[in-house]
Amino acid sequence: MALSRQHSMSRRGFCICCAVAAGFAATGGWLTPSQAFAEAKNIVDMIRDSAAKTPITIHKLRRNVSILEGSGGNIGVLSGADGKLFIDAGITASRPRILEAANKLSKEPIRYLINTHWHFDHTDGNAWLNAQGAAIIGHENTHKHLLEAQRVDDWDFNFPASPLAAVPTEIVSDESTLKLNGSTLHLKHYEPAHTDSDLSVTIAEADILHCGDTYWNGIYPFIDYSTGGNIDGMIKATEANIAAATDKTIIIPGHGSPVSNKMELTAYRDMLSTIRDNVAKLKQQGHTVDEAIAAKPTEAFDAKWGQFVITPAFFTRLVYHGV
Ligand SMILES: [Zn+2]
Repeated sequence: MALSRQHSMSRRGFCICCAVAAGFAATGGWLTPSQAFAEAKNIVDMIRDSAAKTPITIHKLRRNVSILEGSGGNIGVLSGADGKLFIDAGITASRPRILEAANKLSKEPIRYLINTHWHFDHTDGNAWLNAQGAAIIGHENTHKHLLEAQRVDDWDFNFPASPLAAVPTEIVSDESTLKLNGSTLHLKHYEPAHTDSDLSVTIAEADILHCGDTYWNGIYPFIDYSTGGNIDGMIKATEANIAAATDKTIIIPGHGSPVSNKMELTAYRDMLSTIRDNVAKLKQQGHTVDEAIAAKPTEAFDAKWGQFVITPAFFTRLVYHGV
């Protein structure tokens, strides 16, 4: 393969995003670590069960680029004679439906996989895709998080190391360029944002940007402080995404409606910035996190953004943690 620069990297995984949020939604409040642990196990099973049944929807974008929706994070696919490249791996239970969808696009084998970050709902399928012949590419922190057992304190949860076959072998530390299927892919590491392992992927000729989980389209995002994420990093990453896009760029979010654009991304930035400032003000005034939640600093945005797994209260808590 043609990574212009190869360095080192990592992976591992459970859907912390969904597990935290669903646990929170189920109880209507913040979970104690032991509750979170129990909920997390249930949620991981739920995600796997759901992925085992959910159909995969194909969205054809431009040129030879498509999205597969329905298995964890949105999966980008670049097709062509060099073999397919996947951006994110989805959930293992979706394997037959993902393969069926990929074969509908074209018959070439899957040769490459880029992980936008280490989270379970983007890397669970790494092992089977590697067994199919895909080389795994990821940031050095994805490599690190997947290679080693991880403790996430907020969850009181110990994650096992991933099998070697599921760990990236092509490591990106800052940025890399890959030429494949008549396309130029540029991989760039964000400063810590959703996690400390986030990569953006730009496909130049098709004018497409995959933002990984720095962008949740139309829904409040999860921020994983346990592996280096923070609200100010999310805002900075979003500013970088906006700067990299024109009005014609197709923007793929990690979660939410999978075909997006600069206008929607800008609305997301405005939402993040306003809520960040509202929550920071409450914290500076000496309010506790529960008082900040009670003050409803997200209220103006809740009807649009608060309808998915990250509830207004939970998002307030995530922002409060980082300001
Ligand atoms: Zn994530």
